[in-house]
Amino acid sequence: MVKVLVNGFGVIGRRVADAVVKQRDMELVGVVKTKPDYKALIALRKGYKVYAADESCLKEFERKGFDASGTLADALENADIVVDATPKKVGAKNKPIYEKKGIPAIFEGGEKANVADVSFVAQCNYDKAYGKKYIRVVSCNTTGLCRILNCLDKNFGVEKAWAVIVRRAADPDDTKGAPLDMLMPNPPAIPSHHGPDVQTVLPHIDIVTMAVMAPVTHMHLHSLIVRLKGGNVKKEDVVEALEEERRILVVSAEDGIISTAQLIDLARDLHRPRNDLYEICVWRESVSVVGSELYMFYGVQQESDVIPENIDAIRASLRLMGAEESMDETDRSLGIVRKL
Ligand code: NAD
Repeated sequence: MVKVLVNGFGVIGRRVADAVVKQRDMELVGVVKTKPDYKALIALRKGYKVYAADESCLKEFERKGFDASGTLADALENADIVVDATPKKVGAKNKPIYEKKGIPAIFEGGEKANVADVSFVAQCNYDKAYGKKYIRVVSCNTTGLCRILNCLDKNFGVEKAWAVIVRRAADPDDTKGAPLDMLMPNPPAIPSHHGPDVQTVLPHIDIVTMAVMAPVTHMHLHSLIVRLKGGNVKKEDVVEALEEERRILVVSAEDGIISTAQLIDLARDLHRPRNDLYEICVWRESVSVVGSELYMFYGVQQESDVIPENIDAIRASLRLMGAEESMDETDRSLGIVRKL
């Protein structure tokens, strides 16, 4: 059993910790928090050990009578690897602590690519991450783009891609970032950072991205246009390729899925924790081929699509399994579906 510590217990950290517990080859050492809030209380209720980020945080835990198991430094003594799911840029600050202990770490998409040896999407470049000490799981949007573009590139060849991303403004528990009643070019400059981020995983893909923030909390929606290398590609071929690919789910308006609202409802009915959708959901009707150009819409559940990647990144870093075996194990444990 590999001992995994999760540092940062917010949107991503809570999900990674729960996913680690589901793995047959992993054990959760505990989670690290800055505050003894309701998330920390829930962690204790689940039987997770809770550590304070540092000595001053520990004092706050003690002042509140919270049963913390020590500090990050204590937790690292017991861990084989750490998943750093702290807010963006904090991971880079934490890296020297991990380096000093000689412990491998998985970072998240809010960090710059140079925090790690490799930026990671399991089905795109697992082998490149094999044995790497520091791996960065890319952001939710980049993960979605990479899964789709990698599938298209393998099957048909991608000459160039353009994506317009409608981004959720804030996560459901976020009271700071939520804009009301507006659409905001975000970032205002084009291209957005997502295209270059895709190239940290798939360097050969020529892509331009732009993004708009919308006042919703549950999902992102991508409009993707791809110029394919090969001619004579039919819609059915593309749909079939997407259906064959793991962690992509082809959904249909004919089945009543006409918006992100039904996708979240679907997640509820699949009994997913917190309405999570690990799969990138492509609308069958949207897949259209005009000459050599391919068009489609798909939804990305920002809080959860990167969770399988975190589990696979742990296995890749510690050389626990090969790519297919790890992804099979992750998909089985999380109940990821290939078809409805
Ligand atoms: P979050 O704010 O929900 O959670 C971060 C947690 O870390 C909070 O509980 C915070 O209190 C805690 N924290 C702050 N400083 C800390 C420290 N020094 N030590 C330990 N814990 C600390 O953030 P998040 O949304 O989970 O994002 C984490 C990372 O995942 C970021 O890099 C982000 O860009 C990335 N990411 C986020 C999403 C998303 O949709 N929220 C999707 C994909 C990737």
